[in-house]
Amino acid sequence: MPKDIVITSHRNPDGDAIGSSLGLYHYLIQFGHNVRVAFPSEYPLVFAWMQDSDKILIHDIEPETVNRHLEQADIIFTLDFNALDRVDKMGEVINSLPRTYKAMIDHHLNPEGYADFILSDTTASSTSELVWDFIKMMGDAAYLDKRIGECLYTGIVTDTGSFKFGTSPKLFRTVADMLEHGVNDYVLQDLIFNRLPEKQLRLLGYCLNRRMEILDEFKTGIITLTKADYDLFDIQRGDTEGIVNYLMTLKNVKMAAFIAEQPTIVKISLRSKGDFNVQEICKEHFKGGGHKNASGGFSFAGLKATVARLKEVLPRYKDKLNEPW
Ligand code: 5GP
Ligand code: MN
Repeated sequence: MPKDIVITSHRNPDGDAIGSSLGLYHYLIQFGHNVRVAFPSEYPLVFAWMQDSDKILIHDIEPETVNRHLEQADIIFTLDFNALDRVDKMGEVINSLPRTYKAMIDHHLNPEGYADFILSDTTASSTSELVWDFIKMMGDAAYLDKRIGECLYTGIVTDTGSFKFGTSPKLFRTVADMLEHGVNDYVLQDLIFNRLPEKQLRLLGYCLNRRMEILDEFKTGIITLTKADYDLFDIQRGDTEGIVNYLMTLKNVKMAAFIAEQPTIVKISLRSKGDFNVQEICKEHFKGGGHKNASGGFSFAGLKATVARLKEVLPRYKDKLNEPW
């Protein structure tokens, strides 16, 4: 019996959100199910090459259609997030459907318990890695194919920063399996990473040259962007992705912060090296969460106040920040 299935992932979907969702989609449609992928907000165009990405529904654009599909669904998959507030209004709708079967596949710390089926592994590189496992767990290894692999490889390569973190022997075996199914890793990395518009590289240069502050005492680097910068560089969703990682290339930086003044909120992204846990900082001070070495949060307090807040809490972590890693 074909089922009505909705696959959703978090606001501002990244490579893992889109890759895991479309990978699962390409698996499920092989059984004749009616499958829809729906995100709260739009995805970066750099992922538009993924097959059927044009069919993704966006709640910000068509809320009624997305809500209708959620209400009619037999199964809702929630991928790459651990709490329903990460999908905003879609989360409220999902919460109002106690009888709908919900399946969570995720790798973030502290998952909420709203789902009937939970595949949560915080040691996994990405949700995409777990979707490949999930298909095998279902006894459907025969349904794994190049198309699924291309989507899931994208999630893995973006969430691991091209295999720099979150890796394991099992991950490399999984990726080898994907290559054996026909995934061309060279072509995909070129598609994903070598497609920047010129303005984005100029924005990166500007951030590093004009907007970077290094606090040696706390082994911390901070990059901030103002609303005026957003206008000046015509910054769109996704354009600032990855900028925070450049701070991590400094020998003297253990924690990196990217703080951006967006239209209604100030968004903060934290990264760290070694055992230093930025998830705690995001959870305690910036209403957010994520992973030990990569977390995010937000504030309504304005840019200056948010930067001040971060600087205010740094002394508490001074000893840990100064431990070798
Ligand atoms: P990024 O800094 O790239 O936006 O996010 C890094 C990680 O933190 C991702 O795994 C993302 O899901 C998580 N994250 C980012 N922003 C938030 C937030 O506002 N709340 C929570 N709970 N997690 C976030
Ligand atoms: Mn992820």
